[in-house]
Amino acid sequence: MTKTIFEKIILREIPAKIHHEDDDLIVIDDINPVAPIHLLIIPKKKIETLNDLNDKDDKLIGKIFKVAKMMAIKLGIDKSGYRTIFNCNEDGGQTVYHIHLHLIGGRSLVWPPG
Ligand code: AMP
Repeated sequence: MTKTIFEKIILREIPAKIHHEDDDLIVIDDINPVAPIHLLIIPKKKIETLNDLNDKDDKLIGKIFKVAKMMAIKLGIDKSGYRTIFNCNEDGGQTVYHIHLHLIGGRSLVWPPG
């Protein structure tokens, strides 16, 4: 099976700016940031879309959000605010089929998104 770009980053086959890594996930800068802070929190376990989650993933998903909170504090945007997004499939704007949480902040974000 072909590797996703995120599997290649996890395996150090391609470079990325890594902010945090542990047994379960990796946090990198998005290569095409839409705000001053744009991180991707990526589980090492490959799950293609949110539709593929199962009960065994509850702890992992909780951890992804806890790490988002930790990174927001570390980067000083916890008080000003930020947004976390999982895009799912085509209408959701998903382009990499290995789930990842976007953490976006450092400027005022409009709502609703386009
Ligand atoms: P999504 O469209 O929700 O699937 O998000 C995929 C994200 O991955 C996009 O915001 C891309 O800019 C980002 N991306 C693609 N390739 C890389 C890469 N090599 N390093 C870091 N981020 C990437």
